[in-house]
Amino acid sequence: MRITDVSVVIHERAPSMAAFGPRGAKVPLGVLRVITDEGIEGNAFLSSPGPGAEALARQVIGVIKPWLVGADPLDIGAHARRMDGLRHYLTPHAIGVTDVALWDIAGKAAGLPVHRLLGTCREKLPAYLSTAHHQTAGDYADEARYWQGQGWQGYKLHPPRGPWLPPGASPPVSFDIAACEAVRAAVGDSMTLMLDSSWAYSYPEALRVGRAIEDLGFHWYEDPLPDRDIHGYTRLARHLSIPLLATEITPGGLEALPPWITSGATDFLRGDVVIKGGITGLVKIAHLAEAFGMNCEIHDSYNALNNVAALHVALAVHNCEWFEVLPFNPTGAPGLEHWNYGLATPMEIDGSGYVRVPPGPGLGARIDWDLINSSVAGVIS
Ligand SMILES: [Mg+2]
Repeated sequence: MRITDVSVVIHERAPSMAAFGPRGAKVPLGVLRVITDEGIEGNAFLSSPGPGAEALARQVIGVIKPWLVGADPLDIGAHARRMDGLRHYLTPHAIGVTDVALWDIAGKAAGLPVHRLLGTCREKLPAYLSTAHHQTAGDYADEARYWQGQGWQGYKLHPPRGPWLPPGASPPVSFDIAACEAVRAAVGDSMTLMLDSSWAYSYPEALRVGRAIEDLGFHWYEDPLPDRDIHGYTRLARHLSIPLLATEITPGGLEALPPWITSGATDFLRGDVVIKGGITGLVKIAHLAEAFGMNCEIHDSYNALNNVAALHVALAVHNCEWFEVLPFNPTGAPGLEHWNYGLATPMEIDGSGYVRVPPGPGLGARIDWDLINSSVAGVIS
C-alpha cells in the first residue's frame, strides 16, 4: 500500500466553544485526509489550541507530505522517527495528527479497531467530567450533582485561573478550596473528585490547596505549579500525600519525562495524542510509566476524533484509570455535542459512566462529512 495524497479540509466552525480561551470567534476545524492507492483513507482532526488548524495544515503539507506521499502508510514507526527528527520544523501537533491518521489507515487495512492492533486490555473506561471555568462554588456543585445523576463516577474541577489570564483576573485561592468543599458536600463520598489548577499557583498556594483537598479525599492534584517547575513539584510531593499529576504540557518528547519520574516530582505521567507524538508517542509514555509502576492518565486530546484516538490508547494500556471528557458547551447547558463535534458516530457515555470507542475498523468513528462540507473555508494540499 502506498500513500497517494495528503490534504486538509478547513471547516469554518462557529461559534468558538473554547472554555479556557476567547469565546465567540470562528474557530476552524481541519480534517486531515491521508489517501492511499488501496482506497483506504486515514483521518485526524486539526484544531486549536496550538497554532490552529490552518497553520498545522501548512506544516503537514509543507514539511511531511513531500516525503510521506509514495511511502507505505504502515511503516508507522519509521514515519514517527522521521517526524521526531523534524521537531525543529514542526510543532508537536502536526506530528501527532499525522500519526493518528496513519494508525487509522492501519486499522482499516487490518479490518480491526486500533486498540486491537495495540493490544486490547479492556473494552471500556470510566469517564470523568472535566469542567469549564465557573463563577461560583455553587456552579461546580450543581454541575457535579447533575453528572452524578447521569451515572458518572468522576468529576474534575478547573478553577477559573491559568497563566494565560491577565494578572488579577482570578479569584483568591480560597475560592478554589470553597468550590472543592461545595462539590464534595454535594456529591458525597461515592464520586471520585480531582482538581486541575492549570499551572497557576505559587508554592505556598499550592501547598495550602493541596492540604485542603487531601482532607476532602480528592483522587489527584493536577498541575498546581508552573509546568516546568520540577523542583517545586518535588518539594510539594514531599509535603503532600495526595498524588500529583504533572507533565501534561511538558516540552519535549519522551526523553523529557524520566527526570519527572526519578525525582519524584509527579505520581502519574500525562499525555494526549496531539502534543505527545500521536498514538505512537502516547503508547511509549504509557509504557514508560508502567516500567515505574505509575499510571499514565491520558489527557483530553482537544477535539472529537483525537479523543477517539486517545481512547484507543487508553483501552490498550493497563495503567490509565480514567478518561477525561471536556463538554465545554457554549451555553453552559450540559451535553456532549461539542465534545463529539464533527463525528457522525459520536462517543457516548453509558448510564454507569463508562465510555467506549465507536465500533468499526481504524478509529471507528465516522466523520460527519455533511456537517464538514456545509461550511468549507478551503482545502490545503
Ligand atoms: Mg489538565
